[in-house]
Amino acid sequence: MEYKLYIDGRFCDAAGGGTIGVRDPALGREFARVAYGRGEDAQRAIAAAERSFRLWRDVNVYERAQYLRQVGALMRQRVETMAEAVTREVGKPLAESRAEVLGAAATFEHAAEEAKRHYGEWVLSHVNDKRLLTLRSPIGVCAGIAPWNFPVMLLCRKLGPALAVGCTMVARSASQTPRSAMELFGCIHDAGLPAGVANLVTGPAGEQAQEFLAHPAVRKISFTGSVEVGKELMAAAAKGLKKLSLELGGHAPFIVCPDADLEPAADVAVKAKFRNMGQSCIAPSRFYVPRAKARDFTAMVVRLTSALTIGNGLDPGTRVGPLIDELRVAATEALVEDIKNKGGAILCGGQRPAGDRFKSGSFYEPTVAVDLNQDMLIMKEEPFAPILPIIPYDDLDQAVELANATPFGLAAYAATNDMTTIFKLGERLEAGVIAVNDFAPATPQAPFGGMKESGLGREGGWQVLDAYTEVKLISIAMT
Ligand code: NAP
Repeated sequence: MEYKLYIDGRFCDAAGGGTIGVRDPALGREFARVAYGRGEDAQRAIAAAERSFRLWRDVNVYERAQYLRQVGALMRQRVETMAEAVTREVGKPLAESRAEVLGAAATFEHAAEEAKRHYGEWVLSHVNDKRLLTLRSPIGVCAGIAPWNFPVMLLCRKLGPALAVGCTMVARSASQTPRSAMELFGCIHDAGLPAGVANLVTGPAGEQAQEFLAHPAVRKISFTGSVEVGKELMAAAAKGLKKLSLELGGHAPFIVCPDADLEPAADVAVKAKFRNMGQSCIAPSRFYVPRAKARDFTAMVVRLTSALTIGNGLDPGTRVGPLIDELRVAATEALVEDIKNKGGAILCGGQRPAGDRFKSGSFYEPTVAVDLNQDMLIMKEEPFAPILPIIPYDDLDQAVELANATPFGLAAYAATNDMTTIFKLGERLEAGVIAVNDFAPATPQAPFGGMKESGLGREGGWQVLDAYTEVKLISIAMT
């Protein structure tokens, strides 16, 4: 496997010979160096994608689908190698990395199948001497930018549908996780996709984004990352009126409903919160619990959280790994300090774990906090941290109001077995993804994305193919 950029069907060094160190967050040290490009590498990749678009758009959709299925099959064959690459870069336990890789393979397979049914329409006109047809054309060259927290999955959510409908793509991996992306491109290469259809660059984010924004051939940018960068891209994309999909941050509420069974609710809460150590856009970050049940629920959550085995994600017994880097540890420490300074209490965690094996890695103990108030940073900013704050409420309407009182609108969670409550919450919660008794509500078959400042557009589901196609009208005057 070559850990390099992938441009025009070849693994290659960066034009300027640049490299970047890749750090293992569990060991706190660099374990590899890989190619790290610049703006000129993005230009080379765009040129390759532009050339190949002229051919790829005309490849029969059944043939394109076959290529994509082969990428998925190779990812399944290589799941162990790819999962190890993800764990070494991100720190998450191997079981989570495996699930990510298999889910990403399913993204390719799903897009391959949906593309076969992405039809146009025969539209009836109000005049008799016209016939109206619509067809869907691929947008053209697309750029995909993804963060480090799901380094394989988030690139595949862009590559799968774009390639399936006949677009070509320049993907840019996050600087902290290039090897995972390069493993993915090993599958793309070995599946035999024509040169230039899918390209991978690494390099300084702003510089390469400028290339995507400035080049007239790039018709669309699909970005997953922070709200802040999403807004910057949206402002900059206005100049060339580039199409945009934005999958941004969240601050998901988790409502334990009055009817909920507390044991399963606590189990789902802890699993959802500490997946990837809270570094997930859909991680629940505010837990609303009926006042009368708050004490029991809190005790259960503290028991489950304290039992999570912290360690290197490569060890089979590990349930939670390190955070991605020291910056995230410092950000978590700052949130915990702020909670304590403003009158909150930490019931478990709230510190780095003790012991030699944790000394050099970016570890932090999974943390449960109570006695929260709205002035605390954790209640306002996306935490992206392993902190589970519990807030009692008096009635469900109040909980929904609190849940919606944020500029974010990506995910929301509920623990309930009552159908009426499920429908009410589904209608009233301001979130693109609503999980009921479910700790991982993302799947290639269903639309995923945010309301309010959490983004624009959806990934997954058949809807995602619309994001990479233009509808064309063919208006035929009958003679
Ligand atoms: P980030 O700083 O916005 O970075 C995300 C990606 O954008 C990285 O590849 C980064 O490159 C690149 N980037 C940074 N500055 C850029 C710029 N000026 N122009 C273009 N690209 C730029 O976000 P992060 O902190 O790494 O990732 C976590 C955020 O992503 C959280 O807010 C999380 O909620 C969100 N997220 C959302 C979803 C979703 O589906 N809605 C999924 C996962 C994560 P470098 O790595 O080189 O900095």
